[in-house]
Amino acid sequence: MPADRNILLTPGPTAVPPAVLQEMALPIIHHRTKAFQAIFADLTRGLQTIFQTAGPVLSIAGSGTTSFEAAQLSLAKPGSTVISVAGGKFGERWQDVFDTYAPYMQLKNVKISHAWGAPAPLDEIEQALKDHPDASVIAVVHSETSTATASDVQAVAKLAQQHDCLLIVDGITSVGAFACPMDEWGIDCLVTGSQKALMLPPGLGYVGLGERAIARLKSVDKLPAYNLDLRKWLKSAEKNDVPFTPPVALIRAQKVACDMINALGLAATQARTHKLADAS
Ligand SMILES: *Cc1c(COP(=O)(O)O)cnc(C)c1O
Repeated sequence: MPADRNILLTPGPTAVPPAVLQEMALPIIHHRTKAFQAIFADLTRGLQTIFQTAGPVLSIAGSGTTSFEAAQLSLAKPGSTVISVAGGKFGERWQDVFDTYAPYMQLKNVKISHAWGAPAPLDEIEQALKDHPDASVIAVVHSETSTATASDVQAVAKLAQQHDCLLIVDGITSVGAFACPMDEWGIDCLVTGSQKALMLPPGLGYVGLGERAIARLKSVDKLPAYNLDLRKWLKSAEKNDVPFTPPVALIRAQKVACDMINALGLAATQARTHKLADAS
């Protein structure tokens, strides 16, 4: 029985299952221990199954925005063009983030703003990639929660690869809820947050990295950030570790929630989500 009887019928925060709440009530263990590293390794494997990737999935303290901002600033090549696509509130946020870092990284931010409620326009994206051969990164929202609209990020991934540009996908309300197979679609960086389809309270964000994204991180010289520098998180993740004190209770609980999703199976979880959405 949940501790309270609030019913959350929002895209997020979503209702947290009792088994996940109970895990958060356990005594805290220290994070610089083998016990923590074993839990963290299990969590990462669970997230890789949900992201459908063989690559690393970083767990970062903060909300979804923290993780997306970290991806944007860490993967944009200083002095290059970046492309940000918006057809709603969250796409506009990623345009603002690039604007924020532009003066510190000498970025040219090419903003594609399209009608709210319409999917990201593939023709305009292709044109922008052609017009800006130095584009290093494009940011696109998979499921734009503010308008309940999904975009064809698989097609955007293809275009990005053809133009040697990295793709960062906001999967904050798609990962776990509907298909977004990271490796199969060729997504370089996939981001989500803990409080949406992953059934955890707010407080963690996740960043999946493909090979091209890892190569970019390894080639970076300086970044105008410390905590949000993904190179630090990647280096620690290679040792089943995190660079800074993590929210241990949330990490433990996320492992339980991932196990629940993976025990049911991703396809069955997605089908269940669709059934509930259709009923509402
Ligand atoms: C909720 C949401 C965000 C913001 O996530 P926070 O965890 O609130 O920072 C970003 N993008 C989409 C599509 C969302 O649904």
